[in-house]
Amino acid sequence: MTIIEALVDLQEVDGRIRELEHELKDLPRRKALETARLSGAIADLQAAKANQEYASQRVKGYEEDAQALKEKIQKLKTTQMGLKTNKEYQDFSIQIDLVSHDLEAAENNQIAAMDDLPSAEARTKDAQDRYDAEKGGVDRFCAELDERIAAVKAELAECQKERAEKAKAVSDPKFMLYYERLRLKRWPVLAALTHDGVCDGCHLVQPPSVGQLADANAKNGEAGKPQSIVACTMCGRILYRI
Ligand SMILES: [Zn+2]
Repeated sequence: MTIIEALVDLQEVDGRIRELEHELKDLPRRKALETARLSGAIADLQAAKANQEYASQRVKGYEEDAQALKEKIQKLKTTQMGLKTNKEYQDFSIQIDLVSHDLEAAENNQIAAMDDLPSAEARTKDAQDRYDAEKGGVDRFCAELDERIAAVKAELAECQKERAEKAKAVSDPKFMLYYERLRLKRWPVLAALTHDGVCDGCHLVQPPSVGQLADANAKNGEAGKPQSIVACTMCGRILYRI
């Protein structure tokens, strides 16, 4: 295997590693997006629960009012029993009448408020059902993403092992250093030099001397002689003839 072939091999693994790393970065973002989709259903459910709580509190409030008024009437009646004069008795009757009117109003309000309860409860149930359904879908999707994350991590570990092996096959440290440096800035690092003398990486036409060097390199490779680094004059990619 020539050193160029060894580098092409290494680049192939590095390409897969790049894709996997990119996916690994992207998956948590997709999970977050998916989870954020629930925010509408959560807001609706919270509003429905708050509305139901308000409706219940109204019923309870009128109930308490009615209870207090009943007790007040009872008290007035008890006091009235012990009164001496007709005048006092009649005054109390008027008071009891007034409070009884208030009681009637409170009881009517309570009944009206109770009418609102079923629709408030139904709204909460609908919102809960919608949330549950959406949550179920989101949970399933997130579980799939988690599985994918685990699979990508496992594949990445395999690729790293493979890379270590492929890197050993690049026997010339000069090539390795060049490759590793450029890898951080340019991808792919190695590019074919086309028949028209164009760098397949940046598509710049190369001077004829570059083509000659690449041809000589290919011949040296076939003959088992050392190869040199032939780089694109524009992007610096390692050029090779197919
Ligand atoms: Zn180039």
